[in-house]
Amino acid sequence: MGRVYNFSAGPAVLPEEVLREAADEMMDYRGCGMSVMEMSHRSKVYDDIIKTAEADLRSLLNIPDDYEVMFLQGGASQQFAMIPMNLMKNKVADYIVTGQWAKKAYQEAQLFGKANKIASSEDKTFSYIPDCSDLPISPDADYVYICENNTIYGTKFKTLPNTKGKTLVSDVSSCFLSEPMDVTKYGVVYGGVQKNIGPAGVVIVIMKKDLITEDVLPGTPTMLKYKTHADAQSLYNTPPAYGIYICGKVFKWIQKMGGLEAMKQRNEEKAKILYDFLDESSLFKGTVVAKDRSLMNVPFVTGNEELDAKFVKESKAAGFENLKGHRSVGGMRASIYNAMPIEGVKALVEFMKKFETENK
Ligand SMILES: *Cc1c(COP(=O)(O)O)cnc(C)c1O
Repeated sequence: MGRVYNFSAGPAVLPEEVLREAADEMMDYRGCGMSVMEMSHRSKVYDDIIKTAEADLRSLLNIPDDYEVMFLQGGASQQFAMIPMNLMKNKVADYIVTGQWAKKAYQEAQLFGKANKIASSEDKTFSYIPDCSDLPISPDADYVYICENNTIYGTKFKTLPNTKGKTLVSDVSSCFLSEPMDVTKYGVVYGGVQKNIGPAGVVIVIMKKDLITEDVLPGTPTMLKYKTHADAQSLYNTPPAYGIYICGKVFKWIQKMGGLEAMKQRNEEKAKILYDFLDESSLFKGTVVAKDRSLMNVPFVTGNEELDAKFVKESKAAGFENLKGHRSVGGMRASIYNAMPIEGVKALVEFMKKFETENK
């Protein structure tokens, strides 16, 4: 059984230990005589799974008691609508558009009220993070929205925007649990889990409790109200039960690895190997302004489309999967999430060096 080095942007690589453990428990979860996939979400056993997952996430991120943790469905994209439906009391929100995902969220918000684009980096193909220290925040904005790590373009906010007291909402899908974060700086932190935490189908929302009210836009469906899920502790209806179980295993894995500070060091070490090579290579170039580089998603090009295609093809044959860049950018992208071992990054760089020599 050969496992490849999987550089997919998402769904993405998961820790092998987690997959093995899940495989061991597949037929008979700890003496229950059934798989977690087959059990009632109202059972004592499942209740323990979801409660433990929440407790472990709370301890990893130091989430204070005045924040709710919700395991929801619909992916990150459903949050593009749920956020304005629940939070746009004044029907005004400010969006910082640093990539396709932020842009989609901004466009979706326009269905519900006045969404203002207060900053953007689209002028340079989203290759940088704009200065957000003194933006024209709307006085009546219900929140300021960012996408913290831009999966497609490989940029990351290293400092949070100055929201001038407004609630900050952040999509952290592709940097979730990659390093410590101070949850108290945000009103809402959310992420689809298929980038760094688990299988597609689960989105985790961490939200300040005082933002969760019945006062939502008229017509908001029951399933799209945060209050519905907060009141029922994510068990209003059948949750994505198996996915949450895997997320729980990944939280345990991160704890075992030393927590988020250790994850950060490991991720910095991996990213440095790749960025250092890109900086010195005569063939490959990174596409992002150095100070805004993501630790998770690393896009690069040769400057020649045919050579890019050749690289993608040959890397695949050599056991490096999913290095093709997003269809909107072209080139290559290596996503090096938590579960990508350092050996994978080293092997990739060795392969790139060889390709460079052969194609000079
Ligand atoms: C992948 C991704 C999304 C979309 O996630 P879905 O779960 O497919 O809706 C949104 N935001 C970011 C930052 C992403 O990386």
